[in-house]
Amino acid sequence: MKTAVFPGSFDPFTKGHEELVKRAIPLFDKIVIAIGINSQKKYLFSLEQRVEWINQVFKDHNSVEVDTYEGLTAHYCQKIQAEYLLRGLRNASDFDYEKTISQLNAMVGDGLETIFLISEPQYSHFSSTIVREIIKGGGDASPFLPEGIKI
Ligand code: ADP
Repeated sequence: MKTAVFPGSFDPFTKGHEELVKRAIPLFDKIVIAIGINSQKKYLFSLEQRVEWINQVFKDHNSVEVDTYEGLTAHYCQKIQAEYLLRGLRNASDFDYEKTISQLNAMVGDGLETIFLISEPQYSHFSSTIVREIIKGGGDASPFLPEGIKI
């Protein structure tokens, strides 16, 4: 069984994340969208809220699950027996950052393989950071959010 973990903060989950997972569905038997909990980090949305939104987006996709984890992503993958990590690449700075992380994860995760999908051009400027800024500024973030998610 080919299982991939898509790790992130998803604060909040955007259309960019949705597009990436949907393109990965045919590639894996199971995709676990795993929300990493970092006690040092301040989030805008509660963990429960983030889990609920992602569940809502993938309610009709049986092979997609949502989970949360603490600690190293590579250890979480070992725990649930996932052999692949899924990550998105929007631009060169994503690449530089992700390259190092994936090499580290391969070491710590004992051969854990990261699969990268390049974002579709219309979503390459989408990020959770932009959505949080729009919301904090009182703007309408709905063009950046999956259908049905109302903030
Ligand atoms: P992190 O907190 O690890 O940066 P994010 O929640 O911001 O996590 O993003 C998780 C993953 O989703 C990352 O691999 C990131 O590159 C990818 N991603 C974010 N936005 C997009 C997008 N618009 N298109 C494709 N991939 C994206």
